[in-house]
Amino acid sequence: MEVKTIGVVGAGQMGGGIAQVAAAAGYMVIINDIAEQFLQRGVQTISASLERMVKKEKISPADKEAITGRITTSTKLEDMAGADFVIEAATENLELKLDIFRRLDGITNPGVVLASNTSSISITKIAGVTERPELVIGMHFMNPVPLMKLVEIIRGLATSDQTLALTEELSKAMGKTPVPANDYPGFVANRVLMPMINEAVYCVMEGVGEPADIDQIMKLGMNHPMGPLALADLIGLDTCLAILNVLHEGIGDSKYRPCPLLRKYVEAGWLGRKTGRGFYQY
Ligand code: NAD
Repeated sequence: MEVKTIGVVGAGQMGGGIAQVAAAAGYMVIINDIAEQFLQRGVQTISASLERMVKKEKISPADKEAITGRITTSTKLEDMAGADFVIEAATENLELKLDIFRRLDGITNPGVVLASNTSSISITKIAGVTERPELVIGMHFMNPVPLMKLVEIIRGLATSDQTLALTEELSKAMGKTPVPANDYPGFVANRVLMPMINEAVYCVMEGVGEPADIDQIMKLGMNHPMGPLALADLIGLDTCLAILNVLHEGIGDSKYRPCPLLRKYVEAGWLGRKTGRGFYQY
C-alpha cells in the first residue's frame, strides 16, 4: 500500500515531533488527541520548532507554511479511518494503549500498519488485542524527534517481513536511521538508559551528589551531551517511572526497581520540563 497519509495518536512531545517530521517528509498528517487543548499545544510546539529552523535558515518560511499546511487535527479517533499508516504516541500506559489499538483495529482500513512509539511495552501484547498482529510494530523515535536520528524498530512475535520493510522505508523517508531490536521489556534503548537514570536518582536520594554535579560528572567524565537527570526531566519523570515499572515487572530483576525519590517526584506532579519542575526548575 502506498502511504500518503500518516495518522499520529497523541499530540504530546513525541506525537508532535513525529507529526512534524512526517509532514516535513511530504506526508499528509492527521494528529489525534483526547482534547482540543492538547492538539493546540501540539500544533504550537510544531510551529515554534519550525520557526527556529527558519531562523537558522535550515528551511524557508514557505517550507514552514507547506509543512504546517499538511497537518490536520482531530479529537475523534474515528478520523484515523483516513490514514494509510498509524503511529501511536499516547501516554505510556498499558491499558490505554491496548484500548487505542483495539479501537484502531476496528477504525482503520485492513492492511494499514499500526505502529507504537512505546518506550517499553511489549509489541506482542499490543498486537494481541488486534485482528492484525502481523501489521503491528514498534517504531520508537527518540526525543526531540526532529533532531534525533534513531528509530528503534521492534518486531512483535507475529510482525510480518512486509510490515518491517515498510516501517524501515518510512523511517528513512522521514530522515531517520532504523535499527532493529527484539521485543523484550524496554527493548535496547531504555533497557540500557533507564538503569543509568535510576542510579542517578539514587545518587540524589542518598546525597552522593547534587543534581547539577551528577550531571556535570556524566557530561565531562563520560562525554554524554546531557546529564542523566536533565535527560530524565526532558523525557518526563512519569514516563521514566512507567518504563522502569515495565522493566521491573517484565524482567523480574530487583536491579530495575524504581528509586523511591523518582516515585515521590511523580506523586508530587514534578514531571520535569513539561510541568516546569523536575530535578531542575524551568
Ligand atoms: P506526553 O505526556 O508529552 O504526551 C502524551 C499525549 O497523549 C498527551 O497529549 C495526552 O493527552 C495524549 N493521550 C492520552 N490518552 C490518549 C488517548 N486515549 N488518545 C489520544 N491521545 C491520548 O508523552 P510523550 O513524552 O509524548 O510520550 C508518548 C509516548 O512516547 C509514550 O509511549 C512514551 O513512552 C513514548 N516515548 C517518549 C519519549 C520521551 O522522551 N518522552 C521518547 C520515546 C518514546
